[in-house]
Amino acid sequence: MRSDSETKNLIAELTKWSQENRVARIWWRDDDVSRPTSKLDSMLKTIDILDFKPLLAAIPKHSSQELAKALETAGLPIAVHGLSHSNYEPEDARKSEFGPSRDLHDIKIDIIRAKEQLSNIFGNSVIDCFVPPWNRIREDIIPILSQLGFSGFSAFGSRSSKIHESNLNWFNTHVDVIDWRNTRHFIGRETLISQITDNLRRQRKRSGTSEPIGILTHHLDMIENDWEEFRNIFTILKKNNAVRFVDPLELFH
Ligand SMILES: [Zn+2]
Repeated sequence: MRSDSETKNLIAELTKWSQENRVARIWWRDDDVSRPTSKLDSMLKTIDILDFKPLLAAIPKHSSQELAKALETAGLPIAVHGLSHSNYEPEDARKSEFGPSRDLHDIKIDIIRAKEQLSNIFGNSVIDCFVPPWNRIREDIIPILSQLGFSGFSAFGSRSSKIHESNLNWFNTHVDVIDWRNTRHFIGRETLISQITDNLRRQRKRSGTSEPIGILTHHLDMIENDWEEFRNIFTILKKNNAVRFVDPLELFH
């Protein structure tokens, strides 16, 4: 194992968790799964090696029976990732399928249809969790998601204050392994380790109960080398007594 400064900082942070008799929970979400590909195979191999199950956020309009078949043996929970992952916002605005430009009634119909369509393909593997495309949704939709058939919600970063009105099992992701602003590729080993360490530190210093740290992947934008780095890092985490990998079904039930 290479023991560079990032790894040393990570281990030092985990030692603090141990000293405080705490266990850091880590969970994983992968977005945009749509068809069987060799890139999906690389992720499935990683899941198998690490024995760590992600929540798959699948796009109903892009999913097929062929994909359901490819995922049959993996037994992974599937969340509703929009309906078609289309952007309805103007050119200069931030992308969103359920943003301010759309009529509330149309949004509700799409969200209900999204869950129906995905359930027709994946059956009981679909859980009642909604993951908005680009991690963005109109804030006024959040409190009504439970009326639309959802008990869970997942986006990115800090949870909004709407959590108190939502009655949802709400668990965000915090570390995105893709650098969307610049390269649109894997952020690299050092950055991934340091972002995990920063999030661990932030959670440890929070008052009250810590949130599980969510890792976000987009397997279609990753190559086998990226997964190799990912596996190396998560093997270090897995071996550490201060870490527990959390099954998404424990969070969204
Ligand atoms: Zn997406």
